[in-house]
Amino acid sequence: MFTIPHLDIPSLESVEGVVQLPGSKSISNRVLLLCALSPGLTVVHDLLDSDDTQVMLEALEMLGCSTKRSGQRLEITGLDLARLQNKTLSAPESLPLFLGNAGTAMRPLTAALAALGVNCTLSGIARMHERPIEDLVDALRQLGAHIEYLQNEGFPPLHILPSRMSVRSAVRVRGDVSSQFLTALLLALPLLSEQQDIEIEVVGELISKPYVLITLKLLAQFGVHIARDGWQRFTIAKGSEYRTPGEIYIEADASSASYFIAAAALSRGCLPLRIEGIGKNSIQGDIAFVQAARAMGATIEEGPNALVVTPSQHPLVGIDLDCNHIPDAAMTLAIMALFAKTPTRLRNIGSWRVKETDRIAAIAHECAQLGASVTAGDDWIEIEPIAPGQWQAAAIHTYDDHRMAMCFALASLNPQHCPVRILDPRCVGKTFPHFFETLFSLARTPVARIPVICIDGPTASGKGTLASLVAQRLGYGYLDSGALYRISAWHASEQGIPLALEHQGQIAQLVSELSLQFEGERIVVNGQEVSELIRSEAVGMAASQVSALPAVRQALFELQRNTRRLPGLVADGRDMGSVIFPDAELKIYLTADAATRAKRRHKQLISKGISAKLEDLLADLEARDARDTQRTVAPLKPAADAMLLDNAHLSIDETLELVLAQWQSKQPF
Ligand code: C5P
Repeated sequence: MFTIPHLDIPSLESVEGVVQLPGSKSISNRVLLLCALSPGLTVVHDLLDSDDTQVMLEALEMLGCSTKRSGQRLEITGLDLARLQNKTLSAPESLPLFLGNAGTAMRPLTAALAALGVNCTLSGIARMHERPIEDLVDALRQLGAHIEYLQNEGFPPLHILPSRMSVRSAVRVRGDVSSQFLTALLLALPLLSEQQDIEIEVVGELISKPYVLITLKLLAQFGVHIARDGWQRFTIAKGSEYRTPGEIYIEADASSASYFIAAAALSRGCLPLRIEGIGKNSIQGDIAFVQAARAMGATIEEGPNALVVTPSQHPLVGIDLDCNHIPDAAMTLAIMALFAKTPTRLRNIGSWRVKETDRIAAIAHECAQLGASVTAGDDWIEIEPIAPGQWQAAAIHTYDDHRMAMCFALASLNPQHCPVRILDPRCVGKTFPHFFETLFSLARTPVARIPVICIDGPTASGKGTLASLVAQRLGYGYLDSGALYRISAWHASEQGIPLALEHQGQIAQLVSELSLQFEGERIVVNGQEVSELIRSEAVGMAASQVSALPAVRQALFELQRNTRRLPGLVADGRDMGSVIFPDAELKIYLTADAATRAKRRHKQLISKGISAKLEDLLADLEARDARDTQRTVAPLKPAADAMLLDNAHLSIDETLELVLAQWQSKQPF
């Protein structure tokens, strides 16, 4: 997951292959609450693991649910409701529940905990405290709930106090601000149906109806069948009781699927993308995005549990669509609209204004940054496509809104090859923590568009530390080429092969058959972890020997070139900038003098408790510099176009900032 300040996405050409998407957020959080309200054990498969489901799970655990997770399987035991009610009546303090920015946790929990009369406070991040909840609170108060606003009237945080709720007449709730208010009542009020039927009456035109259908379908799976009369009146039968289905599978998230459907439709490749875990049998309303995308020109085959998208005829065509039924996925249409030949108008999307951010304003502003002209009203937006040659590389603000980050990533498929910068990419954690990794694993682009930074310098210049820090800060991969020579030398020695010229063919053969895994700091060779082993001085010397063998260098050539992957690479070592990646956009060569480097190494060894003499270290370094610069095969010298950076008087952080500033000066953002 990218936890960096910004992520630069190079221009992408296409996406292809097969992808299994994470579970639906809407289904996951509803199912978790239903499991908590149903007596006994439920096994949930493929639950979404994200910020929003995490806060829901934590809240349920605090209330007394026990959970056990192993891989994609979660066991959850329902609450002992009688015990919870007794406990809360006798508890002097209210239970604090923090729900982040998860509307799918805040609204249904408010209703359920009010119905149970649990003494608790419900809060979230600052934006959650700006998202309305008054209509739901009003509906619950009609039933006798005791709920107080702790900051602003009409908004969380809330304090729910124990009270006995009773139903005398139909419960009225507004349906035109958020359908989650109705969903919350539908999920919670069966708790009060012991004595009588409960009628819920929707005031105003209900929005986002498909989300309410998800609620009804899931309630039915948990034994509660709710009758409905159009979208205005819902009846919970007297004596309704939650019953666990025992086991339940969560579909892949249809809104998340929209990004990949769009990416495949915008591809300029010819291979299809297969999206698994969602298809025409889906209970999620956002599956209707498929029809909208088709109307824009996308070619999509729908199987029962998979979608296959083939690159469309370009350009797409604009549409005029009422998006009330697909409010979340409609954001993806807004980005597709940038690639069309005619304008697109998305209507009836007033709910965008009260989501994670004001999405109408956010989409309008960021599309304009890419070069589009956009007009918007209270509940609509109209987007003119970006004319050929008018795309601009832009740094996209994401407003702590996961969907802004995910849909604007699609702009990287623009035909003008402009890269896109996504600010605060971590916000995708709300529903799809590995969104970018998933996108990059499916994306194809000419290697020349994948940025490379090369960092080299003499031994103990700090190039390895620097390169790895630069990679971390940019979210790029890191190639420690020295480690490859160390591994080659160590492995050949293990096999008893002398590290001499006459054996270079044999060593090269061994190297080409190596199975290597780099997992962060861990290096695994043919199944054995060697991370520490290869760092010894002896292996370093041996690496120096094998690295002078042309056949070994050749054997490692392709392996190193293949590490150039999306979104970018930082490569450290001898010939990175001259032989392996001569087209790298930035090449840094560190030039601290030998005395300074010897002092640094001395300090490092002493701090590790290894005794060493400064004079000896200096003599060693000078000898190694001489050997490395004078050798005929890949001598140590800066690439012709490298930037020399004397870091003798700079800390590692200062050096890092200088390199990042240099990199930034080459970016179009
Ligand atoms: O950087 P490190 O000390 O791990 O590298 C081990 C040895 O491998 C170096 O001393 C150098 O001789 C050799 N090497 C090389 N070409 C590279 C990286 C390392 O020749 N790209």
